[in-house]
Amino acid sequence: MEYDVAEVEPWLRCAEEAAAGDWPEPVRDVVPVNVTVPATDPERAHAIATGGGCRTAKVKVAERGQGIADDIARIEAVRDALGPGGIIRIDANGGWDVDVAVASIAVLDRAAGGLEYVEQPVPDVESLAAVRKRVDVPIAADESIRRAADPYRVRELEAADIAVLKVQPLGEVRACLRIAEEIGLPVVVSSALESSLGLAAGVALAAALPELPHACGLATAQLMRSDITPTRVLPEDGFLRVTRPGRITPDGALLEGARAPQERQDWWQRRLRDVLDYRAAASIGENPPR
Ligand SMILES: [Mg+2]
Repeated sequence: MEYDVAEVEPWLRCAEEAAAGDWPEPVRDVVPVNVTVPATDPERAHAIATGGGCRTAKVKVAERGQGIADDIARIEAVRDALGPGGIIRIDANGGWDVDVAVASIAVLDRAAGGLEYVEQPVPDVESLAAVRKRVDVPIAADESIRRAADPYRVRELEAADIAVLKVQPLGEVRACLRIAEEIGLPVVVSSALESSLGLAAGVALAAALPELPHACGLATAQLMRSDITPTRVLPEDGFLRVTRPGRITPDGALLEGARAPQERQDWWQRRLRDVLDYRAAASIGENPPR
């Protein structure tokens, strides 16, 4: 299912901000990132966690068709790979209900020898608040923060200890910086699976946050088969280097190589026109909603 036009408008705003080179000043030179371990078997999980070069691993759990034994085995393999100094967080992508979440988090916290946090154990923000009351492991809200209004709902219900912010769906680095200030929670900046060009916006936010106590989920460029910039946003020893606007620019030949089939291009053009029409009708664009 596609997002409706109001939901995709912020993505365009984010691209426009990047194109204008209008990012806030960074306060750090590097951003720590996590390796993501998908819901795979323990051997592969071990290899991914080892090969990532990161101190922090995010392990996917609560995968449909798998059980808690699969999650335990995967987490134990990742702990073995990272050693006692490594940091493990888990992401359930809203795959549990409240009772299952409470029971599973206790078991997986033991298997990990201590979890940094659990991301989106349950689907909605009310359930998130209910789980948070019943567990000691910190709770991070990811899917519960899709639109600019959502973080404040998370705050109101005291549903999370950590906010996962994604620059593109929330619209602009500067908008996210304001949200981070107002929500009053530690922020983990995460990608929505962009090219290096899009990831650079996430890095810009992570670089500008006054505090950055947790590794960010921005090491996703390697998941892409190709990229559109000669300089790629890839981690070195668990860190991404912060660059200034304009340093990561698309390359004509790489863009050509990533060109979508004509039918898909037409679809994108229609999508873009719809967003511009929506802006015109809502009288936004000159003064986008804050
Ligand atoms: Mg997540």
